[in-house]
Amino acid sequence: PDEFSAPDGVLGEGQDPEELVPTPVLAVVGRPNVGKSTLVNRLIGRREAVVQDIPGVTRDRVAYDALWNGRRFTLVDTGGWEPDARGLQAVVAAQAEMAIRTADAVLLVVDASVGATATDEAVARVLRRSDRPVLLAATKVDDDRLTSDTAALWRLGLGEPHPVSGLHGRGSGDLLDAVLEALPETPRDDVGAAGGGPRRVALVGKPNVGKSSLLNKVSGELRSVVHDVAGTTVDPVDSLVELDGEVWRFVDTAGLRKRVQTASGMEYYASLRTRAAIEAAEVAVVLIDASDPIAEQDQRVISMVDEAGRALVLVFNKWDLVDEDRRIAMKRELERDLVRVPWAERVNVSALTGRSVAKIAPALRTALASWDQRIPTGRLNGWLSDVIAATPPPVRGGKQPKVLFATQAQTRPPTFVLFTSGFLEAGYRRFLERRLREEFGFTGSPVRISVRVRE
Ligand code: GDP
Ligand code: GDP
Repeated sequence: PDEFSAPDGVLGEGQDPEELVPTPVLAVVGRPNVGKSTLVNRLIGRREAVVQDIPGVTRDRVAYDALWNGRRFTLVDTGGWEPDARGLQAVVAAQAEMAIRTADAVLLVVDASVGATATDEAVARVLRRSDRPVLLAATKVDDDRLTSDTAALWRLGLGEPHPVSGLHGRGSGDLLDAVLEALPETPRDDVGAAGGGPRRVALVGKPNVGKSSLLNKVSGELRSVVHDVAGTTVDPVDSLVELDGEVWRFVDTAGLRKRVQTASGMEYYASLRTRAAIEAAEVAVVLIDASDPIAEQDQRVISMVDEAGRALVLVFNKWDLVDEDRRIAMKRELERDLVRVPWAERVNVSALTGRSVAKIAPALRTALASWDQRIPTGRLNGWLSDVIAATPPPVRGGKQPKVLFATQAQTRPPTFVLFTSGFLEAGYRRFLERRLREEFGFTGSPVRISVRVRE
């Protein structure tokens, strides 16, 4: 039924607090046109498939809530590149890497009517190396004629191929059973310093803002540090960096060290990497070129961080190039373009001269402390009743909505649920968020407020 579809990362109105319990994630990967979207729509029970047949249209990653046999899980469709992009193999492999890093299990979709292509094999190689459960779906098996083609997919080395027809629904129940068997009951909890390892930082920003320069500047003593952190297994794509007496894990920095060639499809590849880094991190450093006007691309990266619910530090680089005129222009741009994240701390640095680079670590600590912060329910409700007594919610349809109770359902990022007797307008919710931040801080972290209306 339709109730299962929900946009990524958004807490809807009237959502059950139980639904805030994190669910395990299944990521769906595969080449373009193998039938991923059709299958995803089938698996989430959508009657109408929203399949785009327009060539060259790139979809973004979409997450759906799915339910099978009473168990909830999140299904992530990672589709989205141009089918004829050059460097497709690299892009699909990057997609698979991201799936491994962010999902609890991965479903590789292969078109049984075509058989395993070189790209399918490249992806399978990436997936075989991962420690996540991997399932293989052979799509477009609309009837028995393709059974032998399905069997040929054993050679991908991913276990039994599950024949399905996304179009007709054939085999989808069996596939869902296998999915539930592969998924853990609860998602793996590697977001956060639960394991006690170094905290994870994504260094992101549009091309040429100085990401590599900054990484090189701060990782002077890196190599010795890597070997000294006992018991830390570092993904080869990450870097350990010592900042301000503390070791941090900069995730997905391989691309910053090795310059990736520009080719068609590479822009999407870059944006995919940015997203993967953000999702693998706890806090993102968004690097902005202070010598240039703030660009839409800067804002897009900031939005990605906000939407992913990660802590954020804005670092304005190339400060050595900023003169008085630029400073004045920037003030205007900050007010106009960064309204979405007034809570983010800004640090002005120069990767070239090293100026103020030392201020980044304290900003990271502040942002992470906010991200981890939990407000005790008693304190939260004491504060809330004062705020509401002073400024009650606006009357709607002659009725005064009452806020009955609030609780912080989650940290990382802080997520609050308000139980109310009626609808709270968006303006009033923004007012509450502002007051919440005034009272409790949360500098550097997004905050989510969800409203649950009780009849
Ligand atoms: P994606 O790019 O991997 O998401 O693939 P789509 O879901 O957009 O499907 C690509 C094309 O294959 C579309 O024309 C679909 O109608 C078709 N297709 C998808 N699943 C099936 C199936 O199970 N059987 C058949 N015969 N065609 C399918
Ligand atoms: P990336 O694409 O984000 O990794 O950017 P790079 O680190 O490759 O830097 C792009 C260009 O900006 C290079 O020519 C750097 O030398 C230059 N650059 C980086 N940081 C600074 C800085 O703080 N000041 C100045 N003047 N130039 C910088």
